[in-house]
Order: sequence, then C-alpha cells, then structure tokens
Amino acid sequence: MKTPSKSTSATAAASPSGDPYLLTPGPLTTSLSVKQAMLRDYGSRDQSFIDLTARVLRRLAAIVGDGAGDGAGGDPGDLVAVPMQGSGTFAVEAMLGCFVPADGKVLICINGAYGRRMAEMCDYNRRAYSTLEWAEDTPVDPAQIDRQLRDDDAITQVAVVHCETTSGILNPLAAVAEAVAARGRRLLVDAMSAFGALPLDASTVAFDAVAASANKCLEGVPGVGFCIANRSALASTEGNSPSLALDLHAQWRALQGNGQWRFTPPTQVLLALHQALDEFDQEGGVAGRGRRYRRNCKLLINGMREFGFETLLADELQAPVIVTFRMPAHPRFQFDAFYENLREQGYVIYPGKLTVADSFRIGCIGRLGEAEMNGALAAVRRALDSLGIDGRVDSHT
Ligand SMILES: *Cc1c(COP(=O)(O)O)cnc(C)c1O
Repeated sequence: MKTPSKSTSATAAASPSGDPYLLTPGPLTTSLSVKQAMLRDYGSRDQSFIDLTARVLRRLAAIVGDGAGDGAGGDPGDLVAVPMQGSGTFAVEAMLGCFVPADGKVLICINGAYGRRMAEMCDYNRRAYSTLEWAEDTPVDPAQIDRQLRDDDAITQVAVVHCETTSGILNPLAAVAEAVAARGRRLLVDAMSAFGALPLDASTVAFDAVAASANKCLEGVPGVGFCIANRSALASTEGNSPSLALDLHAQWRALQGNGQWRFTPPTQVLLALHQALDEFDQEGGVAGRGRRYRRNCKLLINGMREFGFETLLADELQAPVIVTFRMPAHPRFQFDAFYENLREQGYVIYPGKLTVADSFRIGCIGRLGEAEMNGALAAVRRALDSLGIDGRVDSHT
C-alpha cells in the first residue's frame, strides 16, 4: 500500500474539535456545543438531573407525538419515552424483550443486518419468531407481510427497521403499519437511523413502540437509547422482560415513581442530548434536519457519480442517511488505500456490510453540511489521484 502524497495530508480537514469528520452510521460528528454541555457532574438523585431527564423524555416523545413532528413541545398524548442506558442495540433488545410476551410470536422483517440482529435477539431471549426476508437492495413488502399475518394466527407482533442502515434503504413504514393494524397485530419499529430526520407521526402510523438512540439523527453523543411507546401497550408489559437490566417496564415505573433511573444514568450523555435537542429545535425539528440531510445526500451522490461511482440503490429507495456505493472495478482502485487516504485528509467513511455486492458506505448524517460534504468530495478526488486514477473510476484508464 502506498503512503499518500504530501499534498493530501497538507489539506487535512478537521472539525472544530480537531477530529476527523465521521461520515459513518455512528458514532457521528457532534457540535462543539453538544460536547461542551457535558462539562458537569450531576448525581443521579439531584433534582436538577431528575428534571433534566423528565424534560428530555417529554421532548423525545413530542417528536413523534405532537402531530407536527417538529419537536416544538406539543402534547405527546398517549406516548411515553423510556430511556435505556447503552448503545442503540440495547434499546432494540429492551423493546423486543418487553413487548413480545413469552407466549407471543413476532414476525421479523429482514432486509439487512439490523433486521437479522432482531432475530438473533429473539434467539437469545427465547422468543418465538418467524422471518420474512428480502434482498438488501429491496424494500420490505407490505403485501407479503399481510399474507404472512393472514396465514399465521400465532403472530402477535411485527418488527421492522425504518431505514436499514446496512444499505441505506428506506422501508415503507406507513404501509407496513397499515398492513399490521388491518390484521389486528402490533408493530415494533427500529427507527434508529431515521428518528429525528424522517417523519414518523404516531397519529398516522400505529405502533406499540419505536426504538432509537441519542447519537444518530438527533446528533447527541453515544451512550443512551430510548423507546417511545404507546402508554397502555407499555403498561401491559409488566413481567415480560427476560432481562433485569433491559426491563423497560421497570425503568418506566421507576421514573414515574421518583423520577430516577434504576441504575447509574449516563448523566453527561443526557446533558449532551438536552443540548442536541435545543439545536434540533433551532434547526426546525424533523423538517429542518431532514432538509439538511437530503441536501447532504444529494450533494454526495451527485459528486460521487461525477467521479464514476455507482450507488447500490435507485434514488427513490435511498434514505438521506447513508449511501452505499458499489466497489468500482477500476484496476487501480484499492479500498484500503482509498479509506486510509480519506482518513488522513480528515474524513472517515465506512466499509460495506452487504451480502449482495462488494461495497462501501458514506454517511450524510451528524453535524455535517454543504461545506463538509463538498470537502469530502474534494478529498475523494485527491484520494483517487493518489491511487493513480486520473479520470473516472468507471473508465478503465
Ligand atoms: C445504529 C443502528 C442500531 C444500533 O446500533 P448500535 O451500534 O447498538 O448503536 C440499530 N438499528 C439500526 C437500524 C441502526 O442504524
């Protein structure tokens, strides 16, 4: 592997913190003010921390529950947010463990690694499940879900991923929710990489619970996930959880009781999330954040196509979250050297994890805008030059 030329390292970009920009599925680049919000020590029983937790949870629920989806502090109505310490996976596992009872059965819709992970959770937790699978470049199909529900009375819940981050594909959540409700079943959503950027309105999409985390489109720091749940559905889950630490119902009851988390709360992470929610509101909530990410995504795709890269997905299937590019066939293109060169220029991209095609991914979420996306594209051009690819990666010269 060649070391990058001097001209590339001389142009290294850096975020205000001096770190490289993270064009990845998470952790993501956060604002300096979000990082600075963490410079406090709160005890878990401090009234100020108890108040902070309550405020953050109300605001999270309002993002899906106030109809406008703008997080502007409307009435979350019948929705409650319950936090769960850990990465996003902890929140998804807590959701499945709580909402699928021991005598229930969940239909898991799989078109990527995060759907597969939900099936693995059910194996660990000894929950009955069946799966429907699609290729990673194909959205889940509500008609097939409908047929499966018609043919299997044992199914009580359906679990689906909103944006499958494996490929960046957008699943048709509203149509899935309609199919599930029409058959009288309950819906559980892993909305991790979509929450806060893609509209999800509880008044039009019926669900029992949605899981997400602080450090994707909300642009907080990693360390806490949460479920937004229908209050009466959550109330009926007492005793379901096969795990002590991941018992969402118990966490909810504890917070309702004295406002405290059951176990050591990630206090600094909550402070950062509170600040991140302020910045989310200032940007115009889901609409504003979604607009910036769509612009990022468009810039990225247009720029990469000019270099000859091909996206895995057609534009209408692409969520403005992370873009999968096919590995170019150009004989001089070497992913490891390309990746390292971009990293040295201050931009971190992500390897692919597809089974359908050799690929890599570039994210467009986190505290990134037009300047950073254009910077990343200029860095891609220099990285290609350093590999000896003067023109396009699809013209074999
Ligand atoms: C990021 C993500 C998760 C959670 O991953 P963690 O690494 O545990 O934070 C779950 N589902 C989807 C769709 C994701 O994008």
